[in-house]
Amino acid sequence: MSRIAYVNGLYTPLRDASVHVEDRGFQFADGVYEVCEIFGGKIIDETRHLARLKRSLAELSIRMPVKEGALKVILRETVRRNRVRNGLVYFQVTRGSARRDFVFPAADTPPTLVVIARPVDRTKVEAGAAAGISVITVPDNRWERVDIKTTGLLPNSLARQKAKLQGAREAWFFDEDGYVTEGAASNAWIVTKENTLVTRPAESGILRGITRTTLIDLAKRDNFIVSERPFTVAEAKAAREAFITAATAVITPVVKIDDTVLGDGKPGTLAIKLRAHFHSVAEHST
Ligand code: PLP
Repeated sequence: MSRIAYVNGLYTPLRDASVHVEDRGFQFADGVYEVCEIFGGKIIDETRHLARLKRSLAELSIRMPVKEGALKVILRETVRRNRVRNGLVYFQVTRGSARRDFVFPAADTPPTLVVIARPVDRTKVEAGAAAGISVITVPDNRWERVDIKTTGLLPNSLARQKAKLQGAREAWFFDEDGYVTEGAASNAWIVTKENTLVTRPAESGILRGITRTTLIDLAKRDNFIVSERPFTVAEAKAAREAFITAATAVITPVVKIDDTVLGDGKPGTLAIKLRAHFHSVAEHST
């Protein structure tokens, strides 16, 4: 079965799908995106992802490419046409295509909308989570507006590549004071000796992850204490547990940070428990 992409009103085989060479997403990374998990054929936390998309667009003065109801239909149709039961749907909106100019194009330039969906092998993913991942730490060299989910991800890509070359799955950025900000494509968490879940406040230095927000709901429901405060790389290395959250990773335990093995080197029990319960609190699309 060939994969299908949605591009500006058309469903096209992925190999034929394209955008204009002067698309501002290509020229300037002038666009934003979202990734939702597909679980049992349903879109997870769609309401929150769409709200964040609208916020990102508003921060950059980019129009919604279609009405929200139409976007929901397109997401479902792309998932359906690609027969994704478990996987992800990725959608990107750019300011559109126009003659290359740093200044924005005319206000009536239509934004570009691209949607793709792909399956993941759940057995493989679960085996990966059961083993836990290693992370490396790297100085945060990104711009200040990391609260906007833009496609400008070169520092994130460089950090992930560095992690890969060192045998790790994720890179955690740290700020000038040695505090962890977030992962290249995930939010960072630790669990203290008192079993408190700690993650950096979303007011600065991070993207307000949807998985992060839903995990805070889960923690409240199950009476776990969450402390939204910064933590240092040193504190993380001495923590009882660590894990990452992202739509693509749900909750994935961290077992090693740089050269430091956490605890007994096995995934933390709390992280595993939270992962098992995550979908009982997340929103499943209708
Ligand atoms: N932080 C960054 C930089 C990300 O790229 C992502 C996801 O891609 C996240 C955090 C986690 O966000 P979410 O839980 O909404 O996937």
